[in-house]
Order: sequence, then structure tokens, then C-alpha cells
Amino acid sequence: MGVDVGGTTTSVGLVTRDGAVLATEIAPTHGHGPATAERTMTALLERVLERAAGQGVRVGAIGVGVPATVDPATGAIVESHHTAELTGQHLGRTLGARFGLPAFVDNDVNALALSEWMFGLGRGVRSLVVLAIGTGIGAGIVLGGRLVRGSAGYAGELGHASVRFEGRPCWCGGHGCLVVYASGRGIAEAAGGRAAPLVFEAAAAGDAAAGAVVGEACDALGAMIGTIVNGLNPDVVVVTGGVAAAYAAREARVLRAAARHALALALARTRIAIVPGDKHATVRGPAALAFYESEGHAP
Ligand SMILES: [Zn+2]
Repeated sequence: MGVDVGGTTTSVGLVTRDGAVLATEIAPTHGHGPATAERTMTALLERVLERAAGQGVRVGAIGVGVPATVDPATGAIVESHHTAELTGQHLGRTLGARFGLPAFVDNDVNALALSEWMFGLGRGVRSLVVLAIGTGIGAGIVLGGRLVRGSAGYAGELGHASVRFEGRPCWCGGHGCLVVYASGRGIAEAAGGRAAPLVFEAAAAGDAAAGAVVGEACDALGAMIGTIVNGLNPDVVVVTGGVAAAYAAREARVLRAAARHALALALARTRIAIVPGDKHATVRGPAALAFYESEGHAP
């Protein structure tokens, strides 16, 4: 079972080893009132367990993806902004005990990277980087067949890596971060409050101001892809998330920018794919996490 915890809604799905979603249950994360994310998860897990029993499916493990950093040493959730009540919680431990199943928790974009690696565009490769672009930007990194979590769980925070040394201030306290130029929030702020997809539409229709914002966004994304290619030279880079569809229409511009920053022979061996996120398959990420952890990290 995969549990995708969002700031607004939580989804729990029954997912096979091939990535097929057999059942999904969705509810508002805080439908029971403030600070009730865990209660929502438990209720949805119970409903999906019932449906699994009805279909004669044996459940092997639970994976949970949270929009937060998870300490890889302890499994505790740190810095959960949309579900603050989960901060400090050991969800893997409590859900595991509650349901009598192995349960694992990780950052939602790390889980998404595992999903692309097991079920998606990175199937069969040894290394990939997934950049998820929505309101913010997160990344998940798989290298040599292992998810890279970093010392404190912050690996993949490429949204807050600088693409402009003395660029605009970022809400994280840094300067010139990728999110300032290329995220949904950054694009909207640069365009006077218009939502990012509308800014892309206006640019396509010939609006010069919108065009400048979109051009800068594509160049910033390309610069980060160049950094990823030079730094890690993965087999595959997947750009996905809520704003990815808008970028897909500007793929040539993004790839030109990447080519300006990447070493040519490194870039030649890295496949870059810009694909819209699949809103209906978010439970596959945390399910991939459950398979990854319970199967001893086999791809
Ligand atoms: Zn930042």
C-alpha cells in the first residue's frame, strides 16, 4: 500500500509489483480537523486493506511519502510544512505497529524517484534524477541502484541550489535559488501574481513580459540540468510535476540551455525527459518505496 500525504489531500493505493494501481482511496488530509493527518492515513489504510481482502490481494508492506525531510538515521520526520503535526513523528513505527506490516516513510519526491525507477522512464537504469516542479522544486536521486538520502535527509534539495550567484532573494533565505526562477511560485511572483501555466500561455501568445519570465525559467532549469549532468552524469533525468506540461512545450529552449552548461560528452549519454505529472498515480511513489525497502534495494 502506498500513502501519498499532501497538504490538501491524502491518497492511499493498492499497488502491484508492476506498478498497477488496483484500488485508491482519497480524503482531505485534515478532514477530521486540524492536525489529523495520521488519523486520515489510518482510516484510508483500513479501507484499502478491506478492498485488498475483497480482491484476494495479500498486502506486503506500507510506504508513506510525505512533503517533508525524513532523517535517514532515525526515520523521524523533520521540517514538515504542510502537515506540521507530523514533525518529530516516527510514522513508520506507529503505522507498522498499528497494521502489523513493515512500514517505511520518506520524502515524497524521493518516493517519486523510486517510482520512475521501478515503474516509469528510469526502468532498468542504474542512475536517475527526478526533478519535480510544482509550487516548489524537489529532486530525488538514485545512483548505482541506491536512493541517495544524504547525511541529514536533505539530498535532492536542488530547488534551493543557486543558479545565479547574486540573484534574487529566496524564501529559504538564500539567493538566486532555482525555485526563484523556475518553480510555479517563483514564476507567478516574477509575473505579478499570474499562475505559472497562464504565464506560459501568455508567452506563447506573444506577451513580451511573460516571454521574458518564461525564458528565464527555461534557462534556469537548463542550467540546473547542466549541473546535474556534469555532477552526477545519470542515465536519465526526468522533469515532472504540475508545471512540467508547460515546460514540455518549451523543451527545445530548456535543452539548448542545458547544452550551454553541460559537458557535451556527458550530456550525450544522459537521456532527458520532460513529462507531465500523473495526478492519478501519486500512490505509486510511496508503494515503490515499500518495495524498495522491503526487497533489500533490488531494482
Ligand atoms: Zn532557496
